[in-house]
Amino acid sequence: LMDIEEDLEKDLKPRPPVVTVMGHVDHGKTSLLDAIRDTDVTSGEAGGITQHIGASEVKINGQKIVFLDTPGHEAFTSMRARGAQVTDIAILVVAADDGIMPQTIEAINHAKAASVPLIVAINKIDKPGANPERVKQELSEQGLLVEDWGGDVISVELSAKKRINIETLLEMVLLVAEVEELKANPDKRAVGTVIEAELDKGRGPVATILVQGGTLRVGDPIVAGVASGKVRAMINYKGKRVKQAGPSTAVEILGLSEVPQGGDQFVSVPNDKAARTIAEKRQAIQREEMLKASSKVSL
Ligand code: GDP
Repeated sequence: LMDIEEDLEKDLKPRPPVVTVMGHVDHGKTSLLDAIRDTDVTSGEAGGITQHIGASEVKINGQKIVFLDTPGHEAFTSMRARGAQVTDIAILVVAADDGIMPQTIEAINHAKAASVPLIVAINKIDKPGANPERVKQELSEQGLLVEDWGGDVISVELSAKKRINIETLLEMVLLVAEVEELKANPDKRAVGTVIEAELDKGRGPVATILVQGGTLRVGDPIVAGVASGKVRAMINYKGKRVKQAGPSTAVEILGLSEVPQGGDQFVSVPNDKAARTIAEKRQAIQREEMLKASSKVSL
């Protein structure tokens, strides 16, 4: 429905990696994200960053890493079903006392299908029943050979709860990111993906978006899925208002006409009229698709 500006090689600049955490329930995804936020001593907040939006940033060795809080599985399934890819690197959490479980295998398959590099976090090594070698053995049965088993899959033995080896994990993320040579053009109209969105009683439709190319600014007319509007305000992961957001930045935005869906693409467009026209066309397409789907059901 619109031209996405092509990027020339010379316009591409390095951008931070965007990471999601996946793994079986109770293996420690939430705890790991908490531990990671705690390592950010540059945040100026005692005990690390408090969570404000569905994403956070940490800095290690002066380099930024962006973490999405949406459960990795959802990020992969619902987003990929809509053609969106937001993750550069996946961290697979496996509890050392539990080993590979059904959702671990599911996560491995998602990462494979999306060709997203995977780093294994062998968690809960502080537990008496922890058996990291068994985890590595089970991983090999899934076709993932970790480095000390002669393979090329990076694994880190850690404890999210006791904050052991969290920095090592982050350093490994940077290492993988370097190999991936992640780049984007910051000097064009913004494009990206809606991570999550909801209707807030006081603020209206609120969407957490990931800017993947270009730079989004307050005042920009945008289209997100079937919603349109003008960016009225942007809030960063620290809960602070910001005026602009470049590639690999997650921000919460206010000012949309309705609530878009996670996985929807957003673009900033030249003017309000274009935003409305594109959104209306998309709404018409959506209605048509819904009609088609319902007529199929009634047949
Ligand atoms: P999630 O379902 O994958 O998000 O798992 P959670 O982060 O909620 O963790 C599940 C349980 O495991 C909680 O009771 C955590 O306190 C515990 N847990 C997480 N990481 C560790 C760890 O490194 N060591 C120990 N002993 N417990 C952990």
